[in-house]
Amino acid sequence: MRLATLRVREATRAARLDGGEYVLLPQSDLGQLLASGPGWQDLAARLDNGRVPAAEADFATLVPHPNKIVCLGLNYVTHIKEMGRDAPQYPTLFAKYDGALIGAFDPVALPSVSDRVDWEAELGFVVGRAARHVPAAQALDYVAGYTVVNDVTVRDYQRRTREFLSGKTFEATTPVGPVLVTADEFGGAEPDLEIRCEVDGEVMQRSRTSDLLFGIADILSYVSDIITLLPGDLICTGTPGGVGDGRDPKVYLREGQILRTVIEGIGETSNVCKYL
Ligand code: ZN
Repeated sequence: MRLATLRVREATRAARLDGGEYVLLPQSDLGQLLASGPGWQDLAARLDNGRVPAAEADFATLVPHPNKIVCLGLNYVTHIKEMGRDAPQYPTLFAKYDGALIGAFDPVALPSVSDRVDWEAELGFVVGRAARHVPAAQALDYVAGYTVVNDVTVRDYQRRTREFLSGKTFEATTPVGPVLVTADEFGGAEPDLEIRCEVDGEVMQRSRTSDLLFGIADILSYVSDIITLLPGDLICTGTPGGVGDGRDPKVYLREGQILRTVIEGIGETSNVCKYL
């Protein structure tokens, strides 16, 4: 099943893709649907509160107000090398706030205070039910599904201090969506999909999600030992090599450029970079 959060008139609605249409659900967004309890998948499959042609769908960010957004740094060997770091013994975690999140086709807001804005194509996953002290062997049962994220990063702010946060949560910079592909579509396994990032059509990153150093189950299990993961929580799993800051010479996003992030079998985000 493919689920989304669509902008409908002045509000948003959770929706399910059905052929060439999105079927609107009564919940205001995907987070509300997931929070409705263990029957969310049946509700999503059954309810029908109107339809929107897929070609006219206006995608809000996938989960507009997750309780938590947890991101992994340094989770592909190729990216660890280009950043000049050692392989971490434990997952490197940082957070974002929901004000950073944008829809799959919304503009990425270039900050007025930096010209070092960089791309980070990532597989995202969304938590489907409350998870506390979950062993890795059971962790995939807690994943609602997978999506496309670009953890757009303001590099100079990221490096101003030891903590990454200030470079990672700039307003309206992080596209997420357009859809959540539910975990059952991957047969209960961790997805092994090509992930790619393009800037104005030039391929900058290309890898496979199976190259993650800490996989989905390990990440969920690890975070659940720290804090209870809740339905709708968004986890960004880290980016492969090929970021602009790791190049010689370094390259960054400029106004008018199109940032495209593609994960095979899930979908793509496409965002113009603009000063808003
Ligand atoms: Zn990242």
